[in-house]
Amino acid sequence: MKKIVFLIFLFSLQLSVSQNKKNMEPKIKKTEAEWKATLSEKQYEILRNKGTERAFTGEYWDHFEKGNYVCAACDNLLFTSDTKFESHCGWPSFDKAVEGSVIYEKDTSYGMIRTEVMCAKCGGHLGHVFDDGPEETTGQRYCTNSVSIKFIPIK
Ligand SMILES: [Zn+2]
Repeated sequence: MKKIVFLIFLFSLQLSVSQNKKNMEPKIKKTEAEWKATLSEKQYEILRNKGTERAFTGEYWDHFEKGNYVCAACDNLLFTSDTKFESHCGWPSFDKAVEGSVIYEKDTSYGMIRTEVMCAKCGGHLGHVFDDGPEETTGQRYCTNSVSIKFIPIK
């Protein structure tokens, strides 16, 4: 009897370990064909092919309403309007991402060393983070494509 209880204990322990591992990986996995079917052409180009929208052309670079910004591909909450600031760079800029909402990767494309920012839930490309943000807060600037995010106003 004791042996059986011990085996059940071991089994449930293993189960919880594998569940924890699952939480570490991007939670949404779709094939490229599936992404193409659910995203607009522009969204696909930026979120999946790591493109960049032209400066001062996006929906949110000059947008300062109160609310939340979620991932355009999977609705993961990424930024809040109280972290958005006027950066004059032509892209929506935030000094902080919601904790655990994004992942980072070193990007050496175009002869630059930059830190790419991606949605932690679906792996979608959001933009890059630079250390020229407002000194009075975090000193960071999450330079983000408007196409990659969606604004949800607070009512
Ligand atoms: Zn996402």
